[in-house]
Amino acid sequence: MEASFYIHVPFCSGLCDYCDFYSVPVRQGDERLGQYLDRVLLDARETACRFNAGPAPTVYIGGGTPSVLGASGIRRLLNGLEGFWNSGAAVEITVEANPETADRAFLESCREAGATRISLGVQSFHEASRKAAGRVGDCRILPERLAMVSEIFPHAFSADLISGLPFQDDAVLLRDLETLLSYEPAHVSLYALTLEEGTPLYEACRAGKVASLPSQDEADLLWIQGRDFLERSGYHQYEVSNFCLPGKESRHNLRYWRMENWFGLGPGASGTIIDDEQGTALRLTVKSGIESWLDRRPGDQGATEELIAAPALIKETLLMGFRYCKGPDPELFKKRFRLDLEDAIPGTLASWRGKGLLRDSPAALTAEGLLVLDRFLIEAFAEIDAFLH
Ligand code: SF4
Repeated sequence: MEASFYIHVPFCSGLCDYCDFYSVPVRQGDERLGQYLDRVLLDARETACRFNAGPAPTVYIGGGTPSVLGASGIRRLLNGLEGFWNSGAAVEITVEANPETADRAFLESCREAGATRISLGVQSFHEASRKAAGRVGDCRILPERLAMVSEIFPHAFSADLISGLPFQDDAVLLRDLETLLSYEPAHVSLYALTLEEGTPLYEACRAGKVASLPSQDEADLLWIQGRDFLERSGYHQYEVSNFCLPGKESRHNLRYWRMENWFGLGPGASGTIIDDEQGTALRLTVKSGIESWLDRRPGDQGATEELIAAPALIKETLLMGFRYCKGPDPELFKKRFRLDLEDAIPGTLASWRGKGLLRDSPAALTAEGLLVLDRFLIEAFAEIDAFLH
């Protein structure tokens, strides 16, 4: 069985006010870092054995902040996982990093231990925006770290930026993009800031304590200006928030959008194993909580298991597939559900084609259609419900 690995590193050097990923703050030398590595490598062996996994096509070390593991920690993690991919094959191995902890030793360790891509959390070069959104780190380190990533992973790194931050107008965002592109990333993720309920930023906004946050309309327009700038600069949009130079798509993320098997390891991670014969999936969700995760008995994966029945999996396949600019794979859809995509949601496809928001062969939303993906999914899900009942 072929499956990718997603390894969640649940540690950060500090917590950002807008973030709702599971992570805990750590300092260098925290003994939980070593304990985490022992345990996640054991989980990887047990999981691969349980599912009789063949070589992984992609591996993604995300978080949290994997660069808090330091040079020796990341080497240990990648060396420990090495047996799960075919060293001669074109495997994609991505490591996420934050500028404040991604020093030269860390980046060189990543490269020596087999990483093929770095994904750097830049977010913004504008200190007022970063501070107001409660982003950890200091933007003064960015030029040095970006130059280093670009030198050690030439044409093989991605960078994240956020639009819709406080104190960010179009001039600030476009300057950020221009600065970022001067380091020649192969891939850029431009995320619209979302106020996730329960985060400190959400609470501060509700209490009216965050000045200069753009209105929703202003934030939408800002993101579109960013998208257009990236397109003009040769970075084509291939997913809702992702842009790249030709041939530089994230192969790991493509597997999520195609709903192809992946294991999720580490507290808070989730994985999905598809049964193509039945059109169902097994979802394994690892409970968050680093202490209880470390205290597990041997053999306990610390995960809840849920069977995703065909109707729910069809919806999830549409939800993930239409995020991708080429749409869901029609062959895979038919093989998995014994149903043509065109027969599953004919009314929705016809109406969105009529509005000029959907392309044919294969069916996929246009760039303008992607802006209203939620509305498309509401219609598609209603049609699926009517079709299945
Ligand atoms: S560094 Fe990333 S994962 Fe950590 S708190 Fe900030 S946004 Fe979240």
